[in-house]
Amino acid sequence: MGATIVIAGGGAAGAPAARSLRRKLGAEHRIILVEQKETLVNPALLPLYAVGKKKRRHFSRERSRMSLPGIELTAGRVLKIDPGAKKVYTGGEEIDFDLLLIATGAELDRSRPPGAAEAGIDLQSLEGAEKIYAALPYFRGTEIAIVAPSAGIKCPAGPYEYALLLENWFNRRGRSRDISITIYTSESAPLILFGERTSRALAELLLKRRIRLHPGARIRRIDGESKTIFVDRDRFSYDLLLYYAPVTPPPLVGESGLAGKGGWLRPDPRTMALPLESSIFAAGDVTAIDTPRGELLPKLGAIAHLQSLVAAANIARLVKGQKPDRAYCGFAG
Ligand SMILES: Cc1cc2nc3c(=O)[nH]c(=O)nc-3n(C[C@H](O)[C@H](O)[C@H](O)COP(=O)(O)OP(=O)(O)OC[C@H]3O[C@@H](n4cnc5c(N)ncnc54)[C@H](O)[C@@H]3O)c2cc1C
Repeated sequence: MGATIVIAGGGAAGAPAARSLRRKLGAEHRIILVEQKETLVNPALLPLYAVGKKKRRHFSRERSRMSLPGIELTAGRVLKIDPGAKKVYTGGEEIDFDLLLIATGAELDRSRPPGAAEAGIDLQSLEGAEKIYAALPYFRGTEIAIVAPSAGIKCPAGPYEYALLLENWFNRRGRSRDISITIYTSESAPLILFGERTSRALAELLLKRRIRLHPGARIRRIDGESKTIFVDRDRFSYDLLLYYAPVTPPPLVGESGLAGKGGWLRPDPRTMALPLESSIFAAGDVTAIDTPRGELLPKLGAIAHLQSLVAAANIARLVKGQKPDRAYCGFAG
């Protein structure tokens, strides 16, 4: 009899894992992918979309048009995981699994930094990118503030990418000298988690493009009325506020009893299996993995993709009665 493998979440980790499993396993094994969203977006292209360099068709697709031959696509939200009973529950269905891959990504804590959601534009959503695209031609102010309050954001390079693209947008229109872009980040230096060399090169590039940096910033709150950012003991004014909300683990994993420290899933980084649940794997932004330097691996699609292939390979080996042997290479570790 075949095995049933359920994958929760069809994003950068879940969809490639499903395809990889389908290639590795015979048709007697069921692969069920549960995805909640009707329209899926590749967020990596949002910054380019915000400045008109990409169209929506380049990075969004309907769930029904995902190319998943041989995979059962279930439209719905996984509301509950019961590891003991080996079941996941969606609104309308109860699905039994032999093996489960949790790839639901991370959620955003939009209450942080306080006041940002009310005062600014969210750089991590399609709606936010659309707002920027619509607002840029009419922007008559001078101060653009990009607020990235915590290292725990999706794609740590994102704030710098947005800043460089915005500077380029104004430059091409002969307006860059009238505009001041400042990045307020909690990082001690830009992208320091990728090492000194990368950080120095980025700092030089920012300087060359006259993008200001406020590193080590502890953002206390934003006041949208007076257009003020309160950082440590200082305050700075802005005309346009663009913000990153920090990531937070999906409540689903905490409620399932599978979460480790901080509410994240902490799989074995070699196999991507959860330590006490050899039939449950996790990949992508929903996981927290410590690097040898004791930091957390950043939330990146490139990492999610590699982890998902390791998880899929090891799930396939278990189905075939073999021991997991594929190991995550520790990319960006
Ligand atoms: C603005 C921005 C720019 C970025 N740029 C880059 C970049 O240049 N390079 C890079 O490598 N990374 C980039 N990233 C990060 C990258 O997008 C994420 O790391 C990656 O998408 C994580 O993949 P994932 O599959 O873990 O989560 P996601 O891609 O978020 O997918 C999770 C999926 O699970 C679904 N889901 C969630 N909960 C449930 C549930 N309960 N039931 C069913 N389905 C569920 C969601 O709808 C979603 O489709 C960027 C992110 C942002 C926001």
